[in-house]
Amino acid sequence: MTRLTDLSLAQARDGVAAGDFCAVELAEAYIAAMEGLRSLNCFILETPDVALEMAAAADARRTRGEGGALNGIPLAIKDLFCTKGISATAGSHILEGFVPPYESTITRNLWNAGATMLGKTNLDEFAMGSSNMTSYFGPVTNPWQRAGDDAKLVPGGSSGGSAAIVAAHGAVAAIGTDTGGSIRQPGSFCGIVGMKPTYGRCSRWGTIAFASSLDQAGPLTRSVRDAAIMLGSMAGHDPMDSTTVDVAVPDYEAELGQNLNGMRIGVPKEYRIDGTPAEIEALWDEGVSWLKSAGAEIVELSLPHTKYALPAYYIVAPAEASSNLARYDGVRYGLRVDGNTPQEMYENTRGEGFGAEVKRRVLIGTYVLSAGYYDAYYLQAQKVRTRIAQDFHDAWEKVDAVLTPTTPSAAFAQGDKMDDPIAMYLNDVLTVPASMAGLPAISVPSGLSGDGLPLGLHVIGRPFDEMTVFKVGQVLEDAANFKAQPQIMAGGG
Ligand code: GLN
Repeated sequence: MTRLTDLSLAQARDGVAAGDFCAVELAEAYIAAMEGLRSLNCFILETPDVALEMAAAADARRTRGEGGALNGIPLAIKDLFCTKGISATAGSHILEGFVPPYESTITRNLWNAGATMLGKTNLDEFAMGSSNMTSYFGPVTNPWQRAGDDAKLVPGGSSGGSAAIVAAHGAVAAIGTDTGGSIRQPGSFCGIVGMKPTYGRCSRWGTIAFASSLDQAGPLTRSVRDAAIMLGSMAGHDPMDSTTVDVAVPDYEAELGQNLNGMRIGVPKEYRIDGTPAEIEALWDEGVSWLKSAGAEIVELSLPHTKYALPAYYIVAPAEASSNLARYDGVRYGLRVDGNTPQEMYENTRGEGFGAEVKRRVLIGTYVLSAGYYDAYYLQAQKVRTRIAQDFHDAWEKVDAVLTPTTPSAAFAQGDKMDDPIAMYLNDVLTVPASMAGLPAISVPSGLSGDGLPLGLHVIGRPFDEMTVFKVGQVLEDAANFKAQPQIMAGGG
């Protein structure tokens, strides 16, 4: 018999709706799974009692003939989302003990759709990182291991806990946030689907800010269909976030499953980056041929400013972070380390409360925003950002979506790249351009590396055209027929 934790979100939803099992049973199965996976350190806080209470409410709704699109679905929530009455840490010591008095719009939307909460997942501190190694609450371990090697690997980051727990079947689905790749890269490293919507599609209200002009919430799931279902409940205009856009949210799930006849897919030559392993190039070529077989026309594309995206991102993102993180002063939230004067208290609190990577970003950000350097760095980076967006804008005249690999490597070992921030930043070289341009993009598990680790392909779409991104993603998913499972799984599978 299929275990409840092996069902897709769509199957679990249909099972609850049909009364094949109840939401409480589903929650109990996932609570047991989550507890059995503690060695991965995916959660900063498990909330089994909340999950059971919400599940009982979901069952009651069903008996009354009610229930939203996610009725009774147990989710893992990145600990960057504010959850009313339940702690939110952002993976940082400085927010330890902070209990938000309000609910983020995204989580509220999910609860309104009937979903239940398993807990708050681990992440890189303030979502700054690509390995989940910068969390104050310790690293997350990827449930995948290299063939014949039990070295602990990173799950990617910053949504590492969310990706790892979904991959190991400890949650049906999870939500993350993506500023430069933090949903797509961990999705790729953990062999699951990770989707970043268009900037402005999902509300940022109640999501702890990293870089406000880039941050977007999105789903991490075990299939493209599940991601489409999740986004349908998350997305939408929010009067509390003026950067959300009031455009209709399509029924993504209903429109899935069509072929790609007449669709043009761009393959940008600038994404062929020196040093990319041959197996990733080969997977990309395979992806191209899958899309061709599904009826798409392949167009060679040039996005000339691609190579400036990562350096510009590492000016814009730290600049915004330094400003956003100025609010953590020991007065209003979480940690306070006393001193003899208020100034000393601020210094002590920030000195002890922030980790090394966050401090690096605050220093860089403050520097590029300072009077003498603003024009040379920050303004210049903003101009580059406009050029990157223009590249894509021009591309949409010729193509409907763009296909690239998600990451330049498979998952690496915990501790690798820690003494070389630039090597760590390079993880996002293929995901950052879409972030800078605010575009929707998905990573779909499409193959295995030589040593048996998942590799993702990446589809970027036009603004607010998540539908095409899902459709192309599903064609890749069907063609890849990715069935491999991680070594560490719920139930010890
Ligand atoms: N790894 C990138 C960074 O460290 C992206 C992080 C993110 O998307 N939150 O900034």
